[in-house]
Amino acid sequence: MSENVPLLTRARTLDAADPLSSYRSRFEGHDDPDIVAYLDGNSLGRPLTDTLGRLESFVREQWAGRLIRGWDEGWLDLPEQVGDLIGRVALGAAAGQCTVADSTSVLLYKLARAAVAARPERTEIVIDRDNFPTDRFIMEGIAAERGLQLRWVELQYDGGATAADVAAAVGPQTALVVLSHVAYRSGHLADVPAITEVVHDAGALVLWDLSHSVGSVPAELDQWNVDYATGCSYKYLNGGPGAPAWAYVAQRHLEDFQQPIQGWLGSADPFGMGSDFEPAAGIRRIISGTPPIIGMLAMQDMLELIAEVGMDAVRAKSVLLTSFAVEAVDALMGEHGVVVTSPRDPDQRGSHITIDHPAFKDLIPELWAKGVIPDYRNPSGIRLGLSPLSTSFEETLLGIQRIAESLPPA
Ligand SMILES: *Cc1c(COP(=O)(O)O)cnc(C)c1O
Repeated sequence: MSENVPLLTRARTLDAADPLSSYRSRFEGHDDPDIVAYLDGNSLGRPLTDTLGRLESFVREQWAGRLIRGWDEGWLDLPEQVGDLIGRVALGAAAGQCTVADSTSVLLYKLARAAVAARPERTEIVIDRDNFPTDRFIMEGIAAERGLQLRWVELQYDGGATAADVAAAVGPQTALVVLSHVAYRSGHLADVPAITEVVHDAGALVLWDLSHSVGSVPAELDQWNVDYATGCSYKYLNGGPGAPAWAYVAQRHLEDFQQPIQGWLGSADPFGMGSDFEPAAGIRRIISGTPPIIGMLAMQDMLELIAEVGMDAVRAKSVLLTSFAVEAVDALMGEHGVVVTSPRDPDQRGSHITIDHPAFKDLIPELWAKGVIPDYRNPSGIRLGLSPLSTSFEETLLGIQRIAESLPPA
């Protein structure tokens, strides 16, 4: 493998020139000798070491120290406070339009139900066939519940939805279009402003899923005129396993937002214990039940770090990481028949790439046992998720080398 030598030199040169390289040591476990390459930060981000202190101090000082008084002393405001922080740091959203709640699946349900309720005379939801399963399943359920039809957009395996694809699918019957900013498998990065305009020209509303982009690709939801958006906080926002999701509802839709899961904490006066549901003003009406306060702790550390670094610097490193990964895959695995099934143009992809080979299906247990941790997605793809603040170029190369060495001989 003599070709590895120049690649290793390249990786080390890129690390040496990387203005963000020092941030990697702020993540717990970055120096764990059993983890050779963590390439799945797009599924579960690593914890920041600061988070250990935040969790402990929350348990000691706030939970144990303040007990039930904590709800009045700030916990009840945390969903909107952290929502505004996500909006400002990562989404290009002015205050008052974001909140933290539930899971992405449940928020997809709430936002889509509100959207179709806002277009009562229309009969279709448009969604792409390659969208993440939960997005498709939730829309199938809503269609059945509300007597609507799904119109499927078919896409290239290594691509994603374009404005032309969406223009061909929408019409006077379209109530809502549901798409991902970055496609979970191919990594395709959608042109949100162009597609949003196409949807609006058809008189429909759009719901963007930013699960695979938030914290790694800059967004400008206000400027892009997006109607609704949601996404995970345990991927590139490092909120930890099962951390709650966030929702964005554009200011212009808040007043008429029809909450399909009416709970007491989304009501105007939860502690009035009144007889009828009256929605709270503003983004608070997205909430249903008691907010998951402990689940919102870790993401605040990552959001503070992203604020310090800036999304543009995060994106710049992400582009270099995925470009280097494509280069290394081509050099080390091209002749084994491994293909890159993500866009080769960095302007058209997020922070992960997918590579495909029939042998990949059985490779993951062996790789994980060796401390090389990507993930597998059907039918034959290994995803290399490169979380910009916690991943080095050398680590990326080591991981790709081990995958290459695990393949059957060319
Ligand atoms: C990861 C992901 C989800 C996950 O939804 P949960 O409700 O958190 O399990 C949803 N949609 C997309 C596009 C994702 O990438």
